[in-house]
Amino acid sequence: MSDRYAVMGNPIHHSKSPQIHSEFAKQTQQDLIYSAMLVPIDSFESVAKDFFQNNGKGLNITVPFKEQAFQMADELTLRAQTAQAVNTLMLQADGSVLGDNTDGAGLVGDLITNHQVVLKDKRILVIGAGGAVRGILQPFLNEQPSSITVVNRTVEKAKVLASSFSEFGNISACEFNQLDEAFDVIINGTSASLSGELPPLPDCVVGTHTAVYDMMYGKEPTTFLKWAQNLGASKTLDGLGMLVGQAAVSFMLWRKQQPDSQKVLLDMRKQLQE
Ligand code: NDP
Repeated sequence: MSDRYAVMGNPIHHSKSPQIHSEFAKQTQQDLIYSAMLVPIDSFESVAKDFFQNNGKGLNITVPFKEQAFQMADELTLRAQTAQAVNTLMLQADGSVLGDNTDGAGLVGDLITNHQVVLKDKRILVIGAGGAVRGILQPFLNEQPSSITVVNRTVEKAKVLASSFSEFGNISACEFNQLDEAFDVIINGTSASLSGELPPLPDCVVGTHTAVYDMMYGKEPTTFLKWAQNLGASKTLDGLGMLVGQAAVSFMLWRKQQPDSQKVLLDMRKQLQE
């Protein structure tokens, strides 16, 4: 019987994970089935446990269950512990379930490998303080930037994040109106782009050397990326590579096989633009 994998969320119809993982399995000749599962809001833990008792080997977890997956895991990687959220669960040989968070590794890999963006010794601005940002801070600090500044509409949340990650590197929080110079790398980890809104950033944060990344992706550049393009940013990048990258890190954890994520990314980009 084929090993079973799935992504669990609510809603789930939009998920591109089944397509990505089926392509990875084909590339690496892995005998597995990967499906999308719509899980009732109040039943995550029982559905996930049942999955692992019925030949389920691994799960991806999406909104709104990442915190519940964090609570449910028997063991956690360091990056899942710091994120306090889990997007990947894996059944281990002894029957226990390991929780990981591959979002940050997916983003860092997309920046460094796919787009040659250097993070070491660079000044980084991160906008937002929700689940996605919590997941990327420790992997970013591992790359030894000179500093990370976190800004958020609700500034208290940015301050809490900065203080809880300070043991991993130079990280601080401030208000939008305190930003007064250009950064080397800017990451938009807010959901503002979903509604075509722009976080209230001063134009001075973007210079001609600045690489700008929006975790959101779509057929057209987001309002945020268009704003950065108009200010002359050196690179403007969307989150499709992060999506494929986090999936590749999950796949590697489960199957110990490195898929060709570049090929899948190119195919998905083509499909988005059709
Ligand atoms: P959360 O709901 O946890 O956090 C949302 C964040 O956005 C908060 O910091 C919130 O500020 C801020 N925000 C929302 N609306 C606005 C606005 N109009 N102006 C300024 N700030 C705003 O969401 P997530 O962290 O889970 O996700 C954030 C984004 O990242 C989403 O667009 C999601 O699609 C994307 N994402 C992409 C991934 C990928 O693989 N490409 C992976 C994971 C996420 P406040 O605290 O003040 O409410």
